[in-house]
Amino acid sequence: MSTDQTAPAPHPATTVGNGRFAPSPSGDLHLGNLRTALLAWLFARSTGRGFLMRVEDLDRVRPGAAERQLADLAAIGLEWDPPVVRQSERIPHYEAAIARLTDAGLTYECFCTRREIQQAATAPHGPMGAYPGTCRDLTARQRAERRAAGRPAALRLRAEVHEFEITDELHGSYRGAVDDLVLRRGDGIPAYNLAVVVDDAEQGVDQVVRGDDLLPSTPRQAYLATLLGLSVPQYAHVPLVLNQAGQRLAKRDGAVTLGDRLDRGETVDEVVGYLARSLGYAAHSPAELLPRFRPADLPREPWTLDPDWLVASSPGP
Ligand code: GLU
Repeated sequence: MSTDQTAPAPHPATTVGNGRFAPSPSGDLHLGNLRTALLAWLFARSTGRGFLMRVEDLDRVRPGAAERQLADLAAIGLEWDPPVVRQSERIPHYEAAIARLTDAGLTYECFCTRREIQQAATAPHGPMGAYPGTCRDLTARQRAERRAAGRPAALRLRAEVHEFEITDELHGSYRGAVDDLVLRRGDGIPAYNLAVVVDDAEQGVDQVVRGDDLLPSTPRQAYLATLLGLSVPQYAHVPLVLNQAGQRLAKRDGAVTLGDRLDRGETVDEVVGYLARSLGYAAHSPAELLPRFRPADLPREPWTLDPDWLVASSPGP
């Protein structure tokens, strides 16, 4: 502790950052999304972190969906620290990151169509489906020809590794593929993998809790963060919710949104109680769950949802 009474209070050696939930406003959230949001909130608040809400609206936006998603998240008892950030308002930040990578010689224009990429052989050292690097070493003249032919160019990362390792609170060490991922799409929109990295860093997010469908993309994102000189957050990829057929839950699986459940006469408390039971707890609000939350006790298996459950008679997991 400083003995100099006139000195400003020192910053704590470790500043606790923020967690977040980052929905894409493509429609209403289903119970699997709400469960992931609840987990993100529990991880953040149980570690004294801030909790931020980010609307990932660069793509696939359905009018009114973001507002309904936020209303449902608030209705189940989650609260977050303002402001709600919208990616569509942050394009200059993504472009600044792209410019830094470009200045460092780490980007190139790609004129391939989706079809050409699918038909090309997989990159020699890359994973199945990795971009084969067709446009990586085009000459200036070849690039000019393609531009003149009116082909819209995407911008790709000139990755210098094929793999990168991250640590995940639930999955441990995870090594995954890195390829020449798209940074800016052919239509000019910054790519999700870039935007998420820039946003998490600039919002002080040091804890990323999200569905484990995104685990395979995480080594790419962590690698990109290190190239940009940004710190890599802690990760916890949580199991997805499945339908009765063992597939990822979707809207077509029946009464799976909060609105659907309320229409069936259930209460918000009952729905939250059902989500809590799926996590191994008996509780009816996030606040009631918080003091009991232990990440180490979380189920590691996907949760299979039965949309025809009867809340009152459900034996719970
Ligand atoms: N917007 C993404 C989604 O809804 C989540 C991205 C993330 O959490 O990093 O699937």
